[in-house]
Order: sequence, then structure tokens, then C-alpha cells
Amino acid sequence: MTDRAAFAAETRGFQAEVKQLLHLMIHSLYSNREIFLRELVSNASDACDKLRFEALDKADLFENDSALKIRIGFDKGSRTITISDNGIGMNRDEAVAHLGTIAKSGTKEFFSRLSGDKQKDANLIGQFGVGFYSAFIVADKVTVLSRRAGEPAEAGVKWECSMAGDEAGEYTVEPYAKALRGTDIILQLREGEDDLLSGWKLRSIIRKYSDHIVQPILMQKEEWDQEKAENVLQDEEETINQANALWTRAKNDISDDDYKAFYKHVSHDFEDPIAWSHAKVEGRHEYTQLLYIPKRAPFDLWDRNPRHGLKLYVRRVFIMDDAEKLLPHYLRFVRGVVDSADLPLNVSREILQESKDVDTIRGGCAKKVLNLLEDLAENRQEDYAGFWREFGRVLKEGLGEDHANKDKIAGLLRFASTHTDTADESVSLKDYIGRMKEGQEKIYYVTAESFNAAKNSPHLEVFRKKGIEVLLLSDRIDEWAVGYLTEFDGKQIVSVAKGDLDLGKLEDEAEKKKVEEQAEEFKPLLEKIKTSLGERVKEVRVTHRLTDSPACLVVDEQDMGANLARLLKAAGQDVPTSAPILEINPEHPVVSRLKSEEAKFDDWAAVLFDQALLAEGGTLDDPATFIKRMNQLMLDMRQ
Ligand code: ADP
Ligand code: MG
Repeated sequence: MTDRAAFAAETRGFQAEVKQLLHLMIHSLYSNREIFLRELVSNASDACDKLRFEALDKADLFENDSALKIRIGFDKGSRTITISDNGIGMNRDEAVAHLGTIAKSGTKEFFSRLSGDKQKDANLIGQFGVGFYSAFIVADKVTVLSRRAGEPAEAGVKWECSMAGDEAGEYTVEPYAKALRGTDIILQLREGEDDLLSGWKLRSIIRKYSDHIVQPILMQKEEWDQEKAENVLQDEEETINQANALWTRAKNDISDDDYKAFYKHVSHDFEDPIAWSHAKVEGRHEYTQLLYIPKRAPFDLWDRNPRHGLKLYVRRVFIMDDAEKLLPHYLRFVRGVVDSADLPLNVSREILQESKDVDTIRGGCAKKVLNLLEDLAENRQEDYAGFWREFGRVLKEGLGEDHANKDKIAGLLRFASTHTDTADESVSLKDYIGRMKEGQEKIYYVTAESFNAAKNSPHLEVFRKKGIEVLLLSDRIDEWAVGYLTEFDGKQIVSVAKGDLDLGKLEDEAEKKKVEEQAEEFKPLLEKIKTSLGERVKEVRVTHRLTDSPACLVVDEQDMGANLARLLKAAGQDVPTSAPILEINPEHPVVSRLKSEEAKFDDWAAVLFDQALLAEGGTLDDPATFIKRMNQLMLDMRQ
């Protein structure tokens, strides 16, 4: 040992978010206090995995001891619980970086979403992942002794933090010579937590949450001492978990609770998953997949860099977390494990990028997830509705991203519709087709900026009259998604606001004839309106799509929909503007009135156009003039 310390002892302040997290955790997670052990064991296990991975090409790191294990002990006298591992360990800088700050992306946004409501915040924190700091739920002082594998004993560090009540602002780091590599975490229990100082209690918590941990978890054996009338610790140790990789076990040997506990380990989630799929895939590439659908969206789902992907193992050796190549982006909410039998152990993220084997695995995983969702949609509709609320918008991204599975994804979509008239998205394309009217050949939808705007769109009038269902799309992503969704099950999917309304067999001959006659009859009026509105419209024509409104706007088949154009403009994009087509309702009294108007014709025509624009969610170029005209016309009517 050198006589000079490797670094100076110091007291440091926590990052503000850590303080907030500590405070919240103690208050809102107390009823789940047992999770502290799950989190610390999970970290110990991760540390062992990391060492095994680094030692693949640096066997020295094992320091002649490659039997990785986790130990849990307790001492009634000092009222402490100690969790030890001989994993990768930490040096001073790592302890400061990992135990003094939260490095997750999106942390700031996450904290800004906390409400102060215990129950809600507890759920949110669950999604965020509580980790190391959960130790403070049961301990008021936490001491971490650690030494990184491959570094000398003197490079060890002692990290310590005491809490007075539930406030902690600072921690200390100082040199600590540690002969054995790895980490000891010593918890000084809070008052009232003494029931945890029991071998029986600790064993039961470990079996409940950590049975699946790959490394053996050891505890000292205990024997009943008649004289002392209590259990006495023995020198001998025993393994108290199954200590094999859960996904390698036979399915019938794994209980639902085992699967759920393992999910919490891989996902850091707090709640049970909604569904999972476990399969061994044989063939050209052999791999095992264990995939989970979470119940709730993770806090970073819409982040620029969301946590994404699966844990990758190669022949049971942990390789990396968040292997994003193993799943398409739109399935970024899925958690789980892939264990490949064929990839090389030294596989890196770069190699994964290029690997054809990985493409096969990704394809296989995507199919599995979609099958799982299909099964959920079919057999557990309520759970599927919950899934859709949380992840529907993400799934829609798949229409553009995953061409091979487009039909499967389309089948999983859910929509609001005129048939249900609620904003709930519950109608599938299959439901829709099942209730199509006789003679109906197409699937109809309308897009708008809000559910109410969609529901009350004048374009729906004739559909309502004929009882034809229309899907109501009001999510921003819908505009983009329907661009990829042109067909389902042989049926064309079309907008009710685009092109000539062709209801095909839904119209009888008499109706068609009437429209033709009206077109003839109104020709002079149409031309007059066109002349009056000039460049603002591409064409003016009569329509039979309206029953209650005097006019509406439509765009040509090949032109961009008005709602999409508005969205793109709002996003700052240059969009080619093409004038809309004004369609008028020949049966409407306002239109009849227009026929005989002379002096104020231009005002009437302008109001007709402007109200059609407003009705479909557009904004007026010159609202003041519109209002002036309206008022004038109202006054005129009194005369
Ligand atoms: P997470 O496990 O999600 O990364 P934690 O709060 O549980 O978050 O842990 C924070 C970090 O502290 C870990 O990522 C790891 O770098 C470090 N750490 C915690 N416990 C250990 C340990 N037993 N051995 C080595 N490093 C650890
Ligand atoms: Mg952790």
C-alpha cells in the first residue's frame, strides 16, 4: 500500500434531481419498501454481468476468481443489512458519477411532470425506475464500499450518505483500501425497520423478487438455538435463488409470478406487464426471445432518444442493454431479452448495425410482438383497449416503418367513428368492414384537428343520412399514417373530403340523375360564384354530400388534404398550396336565395366560401371582413 491516498476525501452535493427523487421516494414508495432489495440485488447482478462481459478479452479482471456471486447479510447488533457482489465495482469517479447524479435522458422533463399527488407520483417514479436510491426507503445511512476490478486495493472508494429525517443534501467520498473487488452496500436501517433484520424475512423478499437472478445469491445458514430461543447464524452459506437464466428454463417450470418478477428486473418498471411471449426460435439462426408489453408508457417514450431495445445475451453471457437494433423503432416500448446462439461474443453496436443475423432476429421479434398484440386484441379486449390508449400512437408509426407487417399493423389499429360517436378509439377496420352497407365498397374516413371537428364535419352529412360509417381521425399522426394506409382486406380506404364523391352502388339511379339535372340547372350560378371568388377556388360545383350545410370545401384527388397542409404549415414547412374546390348544396335555402341576388352577390359568395373554410377547421385570412359582411347580411334580412 502506498502512503499517499489515491484522492482527497471530500463532501459533495447531490444533483438537484437526486434530492427531489430521494424525498419523493421515501414519501410515496413506503408501502412498497421491499423493493429496495430487488433494486440493490439487480444492481449487483448487473455489475457481475458487466465484469463477465469485460473479462471476455481481459481475463485478468477476474483476479483468479471467476465465480460471480451476490451475498446478503444482516447484523442485529449494528442494525445493518449488507449486500455484496464481486462484480465490476466502481472507482471514485464512477461512484461520484453514478451515485450522485441521474444520467438518464429526459430526467428534467420527468421531474417537471410530478404532481405532488402521492399515488400518481408513485406510478410515475415506477416508470422512471427507482434504482439505487430506493435504499433510502428503509435506511437513513447508506455506505458503499467499492473497488473496480483490475485496479489496486487502494483505488477503492467509500461513498456515504446520511439522511436526517428525509432530507439529504450531501454525501462523502474518501479512499478506502478494499482487497476484494466489487461492491458492498451497507444499509443502516431507519428506526422501526427492524423486522428486516431476519433471515426468514430477507429470504422471502428475495424469493419473491429476485429468484431469477442469474448469479447465486448467498446467505448464511441459520439454526434454531434452543437455549437462546432464536435462530443463530452458521458459518456455512446456502444459495437461496434458482440462479439460472429464467429464459433458458422450460416454460412449464416458470410461473406467471416468475415472469412478472423478471420483467421488473429487465424493465425497471414498477407494475406488472400486460402480456409476454417466450419462445425459442430454431432454424438458420437460433435464439431465445422473451418479450414483454408494459402496462404503461415509459416516461421517455416521446423523447428524442428514448430507451429502446432489448437486453442482448450471447449464449447466456450478457452483452448489452438497450440493443436498439433488435426491434424496429415503433416497437420501442417492448422490453425483454434476446439470447443468441450464433452471434460472436465480441459483438458490438457497430457490428449489430451491419449484421444480417440481427435483421433476422429483429424481423422475428417484430412478428412475435404483433402476434402477441393480435392475441390480446382478440382475447382480452379490455386490456387491448388499455394498450391502445398508451401505445396506439406509437404503433401507427409502424405503417410507415415496417412495410412487411403493414397489414398486421393495420389490423391492430383502432379508430373513433360515426358509429360509436365517442372519442374513444375502439373500432377496428375489421369491425368496420363487418358493418359495411350493402353495396358499399370503400372504407371512409375524415381527418380534422380535433374529435369534435371531425365528428361535425359537413363532409359527413350524406354519410349520416345514408347510415354509412365514417372513421373519425383527429390525431396529428393520423394524417401521416393514412398516407400509408390505402387499402385493407381488398377495400380501398378513402377520405370523404377528397375528390368527387363517388358512392358507387350506394346511390340509386334516381339520385344520380337528379344530381346531373341540378348541375345543369345551377350552371350559370356556379360560373357566377367562380368569377366572384376568382383564384380562391379551383372550381365550383354542386354536390349531394351535404344535407344541412350550404357549402363545403374539398380537394382534388391528387392534392394534399387541407388538414395535412395546415399541420405542415404550423410545423414551419413550405407546402405547395392549391386552391380547394367549393361544393354547394343545391337544396339549401341560402343557395336558392343566392340565385336571385344581384347587388350583394360578391358578399354572399365570399361568406359562403368563408363559412365552408371555417366548418372544416380552417382559419380565415381576413376574419374582420367576414364579420362585417355577416353583420351586414343579417341587417339586410330585417328589411
Ligand atoms: P440503473 O441500475 O438503472 O443504472 P441505479 O440507480 O440502480 O440505476 O444505479 C445507478 C448506477 O450505479 C448503475 O448504473 C451503476 O453504474 C452503479 N452501481 C450501482 N450499484 C452498483 C454495484 N453494485 N456495482 C457497480 N456499480 C453499481
Ligand atoms: Mg439499478
